[in-house]
Amino acid sequence: MAILLENATLVTLDPQRPVLEGQHLLVDRGVIAGVGKQIKPGGFAAEKRLDCSGKIVMPGLVNAHSHLVEILQRSFRDNVRMEVWREYRMLTEEKAHLTTEEINAAAKLACGEMLKNGVTAVVDHFSPRSAVQSAQMEAILEAFETTGIRGALAPALRDQDFVRLIGSPLKGKNLRQRRSHQPWQEGVRRLLEHEKRPGKTWTLMLGPSNPLNCSDSMLKEVVRMAEEQDLGIHTHLLETRLQGWGASRIYRKGVVRRMDRLGLLSPRLSAAHCIWLDEKETDLLAARGASVVHSPASNLKLGSGIAAVARMKKKGVNVALGTDGGDTSDTYCIFEQMKLAALLSRITEKDPRDWVTARDALEMGTINGARAVPAWRGKTGAIKVGYRADLLILKPRLSLEPLNDVIHQLVFCQAGRCVETVLVDGEIVVAEGRLTRMDEETLIQRVGETSKKMFRLYRSIKKRSGKGTSAIEALYDRVRWKTLRARHTCESDG
Ligand SMILES: [Zn+2]
Repeated sequence: MAILLENATLVTLDPQRPVLEGQHLLVDRGVIAGVGKQIKPGGFAAEKRLDCSGKIVMPGLVNAHSHLVEILQRSFRDNVRMEVWREYRMLTEEKAHLTTEEINAAAKLACGEMLKNGVTAVVDHFSPRSAVQSAQMEAILEAFETTGIRGALAPALRDQDFVRLIGSPLKGKNLRQRRSHQPWQEGVRRLLEHEKRPGKTWTLMLGPSNPLNCSDSMLKEVVRMAEEQDLGIHTHLLETRLQGWGASRIYRKGVVRRMDRLGLLSPRLSAAHCIWLDEKETDLLAARGASVVHSPASNLKLGSGIAAVARMKKKGVNVALGTDGGDTSDTYCIFEQMKLAALLSRITEKDPRDWVTARDALEMGTINGARAVPAWRGKTGAIKVGYRADLLILKPRLSLEPLNDVIHQLVFCQAGRCVETVLVDGEIVVAEGRLTRMDEETLIQRVGETSKKMFRLYRSIKKRSGKGTSAIEALYDRVRWKTLRARHTCESDG
């Protein structure tokens, strides 16, 4: 279907003319077919016209690191470290024995929330409980298809446990190189068959949970399959102080050099968090063309630290944005991440010229996110003729008035409250602020029941978990703070 958006204020992010007034935009068969003050229809007949007078049209946002099913544990925990949080989250999920129907409903609700908030594409770093279970993964893919969001599913893979590794009396090669017994490749290959069917807007990535939780052999298998099937690779990397310390304890030259040796660093890779990278590791990521996914809300809530985004940007690393999950970020809002990314840089960088500007943040939330996923690179994330039509129409409400600087205010003023209409692949999936493909109320009720059941389970797990929590605190006590200078906090002028 051809749709003509008329008389819009267009946010192109083009370096010469980032915002254009009074523009028409033609969408035809899912693609941006024309942009300008006047569009000659040519062979197109617009079947639908949207009057965008007084409205802003911008590229859809990309959530480049997320965990959809974590919406079931939304806001369960407050003041816990990442490692403690992770134990609780996993134990709660294990005890809940989620059905594929429950997983599907949760993923749909998270996708619905994102679409209404302007996210048109999401990477779901999904943790199947054992091996790579096709039924669970199909439940996520079905949620992408039903909601209409552009999705990338990255099943999390692991065959070792970093926390147990550094806390264990066992040391060395045997532990580090324990082979994977999970037949994950078969599960992925089966899904790749689905992906080849026409009309799919989702894609697959390979998702080693964290290189510290994967043996060398597993990571080599990941690289081999990614090259063979032309897939992206998504992972968590150096998220906490404990990981920064433990990585250099287990791998003499550090985990990033290990990844490079194993062939993992390439334009296929997007790595979430990257808070505890040192200068040379950042250089290495830049040289190999890998992307970093900054998740500031999650990093702050779990007390993990502040990623040196301005330094990464200066070195030429592609930095995208992610929300992480429903418990660590509490929301799936990329507008919120953009604002935090811009504000936090003013704490980490002394020189205002190095701060993340509103425009930088908007690029991180759109085009940089698309660049972080090989299947989306050069196809979405911007308003360009020939790109897929993933677009937002915003109607300025009070929080955008008076409207003086469109880009500045999109980032700092409205947290997605002004999103009115959302198109993914040329289809209207949110109209007048309502999802067009789903009954939101039914979904809220269904997910609410599962979530309440899990909250009861979590509370009983928490009561019995004193030992595990104190073991992690003991590990933190072993971290040598002297060798881990807080690189990202404001340096004293003296
Ligand atoms: Zn994560």
